Amino acid sequence: MLTAYRFRLYPNEKQQELFSRYFGCSRVVWNKALELRESYYKEHKNDKQKKGLNYYDTARFLRELKQKEEYKWLKEANSQSLQQTLMDLDKAFNAFFKGISKYPKYKKKTNKQSFRVPQFFNFTDNLLYLPKMGKGIRMEIHREFPRGKVKQLTVTKTPTGKYFVSLVVDDRKETPQKVQITNDPDKSIGIDMGLKDFAILSNGIKISNPKFLQKSEKLLKRRQKQLSRKQKDSKNRAKARISLAKIYERITNQRNDFIHKVSTAITKRFDTIVVETLNIKGMKKNHNLAKAISNVSWSRFFEFIKYKAEKQGKNIIEIGMFEKSSKTCSVCGHVNKGLTLKEREWTCTDCNTLLDRDINAAINIRNFGLNQIGLKSIPSDRGEFKPVENSLTAELAKMKIKARSTSHDPEKQELYAMKKLKLLIGAGSP
Ligand SMILES: [Zn+2]
Repeated sequence: MLTAYRFRLYPNEKQQELFSRYFGCSRVVWNKALELRESYYKEHKNDKQKKGLNYYDTARFLRELKQKEEYKWLKEANSQSLQQTLMDLDKAFNAFFKGISKYPKYKKKTNKQSFRVPQFFNFTDNLLYLPKMGKGIRMEIHREFPRGKVKQLTVTKTPTGKYFVSLVVDDRKETPQKVQITNDPDKSIGIDMGLKDFAILSNGIKISNPKFLQKSEKLLKRRQKQLSRKQKDSKNRAKARISLAKIYERITNQRNDFIHKVSTAITKRFDTIVVETLNIKGMKKNHNLAKAISNVSWSRFFEFIKYKAEKQGKNIIEIGMFEKSSKTCSVCGHVNKGLTLKEREWTCTDCNTLLDRDINAAINIRNFGLNQIGLKSIPSDRGEFKPVENSLTAELAKMKIKARSTSHDPEKQELYAMKKLKLLIGAGSP
């Protein structure tokens, strides 16, 4: 099983200088190869016989580039790192062609910088050794990891100037066997992703976006405007850019923390999770900031629940995105064609049930997912979901949230616990 680790690095001045050269080489190689692949594509667009360039073409190009006087400095970098950059670009293109990620972008000096080291690295207690780097780089290991089993190593520098090393470790253990999928509503859940609420579960829980994030996002918007007013290449602009990057960093950390909590709670609690496949191609550049940020956190959330489910032997069922999830009555199947986006609640004209738009959609997502693998959604679980479960109290205890209630009635206690969980994943602080 693969596990990712991330540790802070504290390179000294000389090492920082070397890093910045490596970042530069890696960035230039990425951009040059991207440019090459693009221009080749434009030239041969109409020629069906010709396929696009692949990794080997770009590797040949890199060898030629290094021979040129003006690019001789590329030889300073570890050549394996540069080859890795080309492989990453190739992967990015393949992912784009498969429709699972966006078109590869050019790398900018002001964004996050990175380079990868495929081999010949080493660790001691608090030092990281990289090829061509000489002395060890101070590394803060806050969590043990199997040192001999590191598969991938990436060094990054954030726009705020912090250094990190990310490791992917393969412990060579097999992934646990999947638990059986049943139509028990207590074991399987559908999730609808929203804007106002981060996620809506088919058991009636709405997980709202944390308040502190909304605040940070407002601040971000303001700072973005301020930055755009600063003169290009001025000192003030550089300052404004760093201040903006710091807010971004804070938002990303807060968001990741929030998404970790939600995805952990959901994957622990349920055996089967049904989600709509994210349409990444449809998420073109979005000028609406709230939407853009949501897009990022949704894909992150999907990543998290997928790997957490995998680790615990839980099931993820993906269904295609479709409009009907909110327009179909989850109780009787009647389709309300006239439903507008504004209507948050509607009453089914066939069975007279009052439906919450988002919860109804989440129930449908769950039912469609189960149907997709040949399970029937049992009639009694339609619309009627027991919103409270015993094990939640235990989960909350683990998360150090006390589910205290003055009542001795277990049902009331559980309701209280549920409310707490909602609070925790709704508005908790990191
Ligand atoms: Zn109905």
